[in-house]
Parts: sequence; structure tokens; C-alpha cells
Amino acid sequence: MNTTEMPVVCRRCGRVLLDPRSVALGLGPGCATGLRPADLDTLAAAAARATAQLPLDFAGDEG
Ligand SMILES: [Zn+2]
Repeated sequence: MNTTEMPVVCRRCGRVLLDPRSVALGLGPGCATGLRPADLDTLAAAAARATAQLPLDFAGDEG
């Protein structure tokens, strides 16, 4: 049995998500576009709260 990370799948269509930003939302880009804006805001805010304490390293100095 594979004990590495389980693939994250889209909550709408079940496709395996490969893009980390899609994984963060639990939705592929196409499905995220179809989501009601209020729900997308809720998801994004919850993801931001859940990861707010994680240290981040940035490769560049843009932003
Ligand atoms: Zn999808």
C-alpha cells in the first residue's frame, strides 16, 4: 500500500488535482470557476485561516 500522500481530488468532479492552488481549494480550476462567488470566498478564507501559521519561503523577491 502506498503510504505517501493521498491524491487530492476535486470535490465537484472527482478528478485528481495536481496544481497546489487547486489542492488548497479542493476544486479544479474549471470547477472553481463555476462555484458561487460567496462559496469560493468562504473556501478561500477557510484555507487562509488553516494555513496562516505555516512558515513560507519564497524563491523570488517579487510581491
Ligand atoms: Zn472538478
